[in-house]
Amino acid sequence: METAEFIWMDGALVPWDEAKVHVLAHTLHYGLGAFEGIRCYRCADGRSAVFRLPEHIERLVQSLHILGVKAPFDEGQIADACLETIRANKLEECYIRPLVFLGAGEMGLAATSNPVHVVVSVWPWGSYLGEDGLANGIRVVTSSFQRFHINTLMTKAKASGHYVNSILASREARNAGYDESLMLDVDGYAAEGCGENLFIARRGVVKTTPIATVLGGVTRDTAIELLKADGIDVVEERFTRDEVYIADEAFLTGTAAEITPIRSLDDRVVGNDGSPGPITKKLQSEYFDVTKGKRPDHSEWLTYV
Ligand code: PMP
Repeated sequence: METAEFIWMDGALVPWDEAKVHVLAHTLHYGLGAFEGIRCYRCADGRSAVFRLPEHIERLVQSLHILGVKAPFDEGQIADACLETIRANKLEECYIRPLVFLGAGEMGLAATSNPVHVVVSVWPWGSYLGEDGLANGIRVVTSSFQRFHINTLMTKAKASGHYVNSILASREARNAGYDESLMLDVDGYAAEGCGENLFIARRGVVKTTPIATVLGGVTRDTAIELLKADGIDVVEERFTRDEVYIADEAFLTGTAAEITPIRSLDDRVVGNDGSPGPITKKLQSEYFDVTKGKRPDHSEWLTYV
């Protein structure tokens, strides 16, 4: 990965190589922590802006609330830390990773007295599923790993430990030569990618998985709003993997993945020839316009650095 100069740790900027934790940090063992993935874009006017910063920080705070973890910094302080870290690293565009975790102290599952640490790292990160994937679409495979049941782990929390599920699915897909996996929910309906929400379009109507079984993606919300503003019906309803096979278009949304078209699912080409369809292409272009400050009607989504 590309690194940067400083990481914000518990209120102070420290050099990248000195941002260290003890091996008995509780979260390292058991996964009880929460994080965010946010992007800062270089805008058309040369300034840099973080896309939907308050919404991401709000989700982080909600994740902590769900997990019962109390952070020693509030929403405003963590948002400021993100901006401060970008400025200190003099990055025009970057990925931003706030993480809240339990440090060393007590061990065992019942531990409650461990210090809670907050760190913010930033680094340059290009397109997550590749430039080619963004332009031409990716090959997706249905995972043998299901998205966890809503009462096994909490889907509304972006919790560190939840990502074991995503990593198993992601590695399985890549080992089999695909770009990404689609995870089904425990009832067998399409849920989401390892780190992305799922959309399909058929006969001009767009469908996305209801929020109940998936992470409430900020990009998902952005996509719904942009599509609706273009007069497209967006339905939040369960659908099956074969509905994806016969969709006219399909795409994934995520802060890292942005708007990534799906070429095929389980080797069934989506649409006529798997190339990105008109709804996907328009949405992708609108998404980059809003993130890069070219849409004054959505300037409320930008926090300038
Ligand atoms: N689902 C999962 C499981 C994710 O990890 C992510 C990435 N945060 C998303 C969906 C998309 O969320 P967002 O658009 O907020 O990045």
